[in-house]
Amino acid sequence: MSASVVPLTLGTWPTPVEPMPRLAAALGLGREDLLVKRDDLTGLAGGGNKIRKLEWTVAEALANDADTLVTTGAPQSNHARLTAAAAARLGLRAVLVFPGEPPADRSGNLVLDAFLGAEIVFTGAQGQPALADAAARVCERLRSEGARPALIPFGGSSALAARGYATCGEELLAQVPGLRTAVVALGSGATMAGLVASLGPDRTLGVDVGAVDDPRQRVAAFVAPLAPGVRADDLRVDRDQVGSGYPSLTTAVEEAITLVARVEGIVLDPTYTGRAMAGLIAATRRGEIAPGDTTVFIHTGGLPGMFGHPDVPAFAERAQKIN
Ligand SMILES: *Cc1c(COP(=O)(O)O)cnc(C)c1O
Repeated sequence: MSASVVPLTLGTWPTPVEPMPRLAAALGLGREDLLVKRDDLTGLAGGGNKIRKLEWTVAEALANDADTLVTTGAPQSNHARLTAAAAARLGLRAVLVFPGEPPADRSGNLVLDAFLGAEIVFTGAQGQPALADAAARVCERLRSEGARPALIPFGGSSALAARGYATCGEELLAQVPGLRTAVVALGSGATMAGLVASLGPDRTLGVDVGAVDDPRQRVAAFVAPLAPGVRADDLRVDRDQVGSGYPSLTTAVEEAITLVARVEGIVLDPTYTGRAMAGLIAATRRGEIAPGDTTVFIHTGGLPGMFGHPDVPAFAERAQKIN
């Protein structure tokens, strides 16, 4: 990582902080206790947390004279969609490398990827190592064609990317000086890592979504260069919201999504923010989040993924019946 990278501006800052009084009351908290940081409203192509990370990683790619951004993820990756959007905004090419076979119908993020002009490579292979190998081969192919590819890491996460969320944490402290706990989804790890770097481990609760095998170690590795002395054991991580794995949609997440939609008019997504809210609700029930504490829910976006999730139509039928 080059210490001299200057971040780009790709999003709209600062993102707003709003009260969630009706949700707070529903959870038995004081009406002023619960706030939401609207990092779903970051500006570019559907919004979400990946823009803050891309401001750093794409800046580094440009410093290295890249003309093509290559990245990997699940086919419904919000990170891949926003990498495509960043490339479009900057006049670069984007190549998105996904596992498995192309789906019969495009939905969710894959629709937006097409509109944004990204090239999509389905590798046939499954699993993280095979996907990384496939991305390396795509970069080789691009170089042999005369392109200058930059590989943006899985989920957009690296210690450099985490700086985007260290900035978010500083922004948040200026908006909510009395913050006690920030609750955030933990996927590939740099979002939580950046928040830990600026808020400290005690004030950051990460809710794992099951995207990686070793979330605690990954977050600790990304924090280390930014905030030396934070150990993996110091991190607050809830691993109870994963269900049967990353693609699963649990009852707790369904309840979190319908509750927040109905009392605040804010829609969460089934993979990330729904799990983060289920984790916030669970922490409230345990007393880890108590009345009088100022808690901020970090809304990291992800709504496009809702429309590419196979279990969502049946969930919507169930939701329709609870009125
Ligand atoms: C990727 C993502 C996260 C998790 O961020 P990481 O930095 O990968 O941990 C949270 N919410 C949404 C909507 C995401 O797309």
